[in-house]
Amino acid sequence: MTDRNVFVYIETADGESVKVGPEMLAPAREAAGGGKVTAVIIDAQSDQAAEKALIYGADAVITAACEAAPPENTVGILTAMAEKYGPDIIMIGSTPAGRETAPRLAARIGAGCVTDVNALDITDEGIVWTTPLFGGTILENVGISTDVQVVTIRSGAFKCGEAGDPSGEIIPEEIIMQDGDVKTKIIDSVVEISEQVNLEDAEIIVTGGKGMGTEEDFQKIQELADVLGATVGATRPVIEAGWTSRAHQVGQSGKIVSPKLYIAFGVSGATQHITGMIGSDYIVAVNKDEDAPIFDVADIGIVGDAKKVLPIFIEECRKLKGI
Ligand SMILES: Cc1cc2nc3c(=O)[nH]c(=O)nc-3n(C[C@H](O)[C@H](O)[C@H](O)COP(=O)(O)OP(=O)(O)OC[C@H]3O[C@@H](n4cnc5c(N)ncnc54)[C@H](O)[C@@H]3O)c2cc1C
Repeated sequence: MTDRNVFVYIETADGESVKVGPEMLAPAREAAGGGKVTAVIIDAQSDQAAEKALIYGADAVITAACEAAPPENTVGILTAMAEKYGPDIIMIGSTPAGRETAPRLAARIGAGCVTDVNALDITDEGIVWTTPLFGGTILENVGISTDVQVVTIRSGAFKCGEAGDPSGEIIPEEIIMQDGDVKTKIIDSVVEISEQVNLEDAEIIVTGGKGMGTEEDFQKIQELADVLGATVGATRPVIEAGWTSRAHQVGQSGKIVSPKLYIAFGVSGATQHITGMIGSDYIVAVNKDEDAPIFDVADIGIVGDAKKVLPIFIEECRKLKGI
């Protein structure tokens, strides 16, 4: 097996690593073989992110303290780090900032770049990166032939590895900004006030699709979610019908989720929905059509009327939980 040195750029927000940050360390370890995995964190208050990176598998963390890091700065800093340490692969989260950073960095260092990777395969010829195209309808396998490879990793596509001892070294790098380095000035940041629905971190999700029939019936999904301590998900037609807010949408144009248990009522299983929930550990689907595509990915499929099955489900879960 080829040993490779892998850089994982971990973006932070308010001093904490973004969700995809530690998730990247598992594929990074796979890609590295016996090589070294080094997290790079550009944040003056990066203690939490650095420790988390070591816990989830980084051999070392480079902390580049820097006052402000708009994407053009990040590119400059990562370019300097890449030139100094010579990694074979640089992984970046597929966040809005990451998507801006990766191609610029690749152009600067003459690397090939693949974006939005959701799987990888180590072959004798090199690493094959899988990335969805045309809204997830097609999966493309891509190899990069340049010496250095830059890839962005989709949030939720990989799970964090086992937590271990944070025994790796922390390498502080001082970044000296020259006049003119910072061309973007962030004047203000505005946080969108929206309903907080944390689907990405939910352990159980109960999703209702258009097959629930009416808004009133869809609301009963919340009842089961309350019994199970779950978060409510929805398909796009449900959002378009106004039965719930966009914050609940699971899928290609919604959220990518990876709970332990995903229960779908009246969901057809269109590719654009499956793309968002295929990372779930265990999938239960209820649909009246035995040929519905959702059954192709379900661990348990119940062919029946969701409106009749849901109350029985709620009742049985209440009994099991003793509530
Ligand atoms: C660019 C693009 C992006 C998209 N992004 C997303 C996305 O992020 N998320 C998403 O979900 N969709 C997305 N879509 C839409 C997607 O293609 C599907 O149209 C959508 O997922 C279907 O939602 P649904 O299964 O709720 O509805 P339907 O396709 O209408 O399916 C309803 C299902 O319920 C079943 N059913 C009906 N009545 C009952 C009953 N009484 N009991 C049990 N089962 C019943 C039916 O058999 C059927 O399988 C996207 C589409 C495009 C083009």
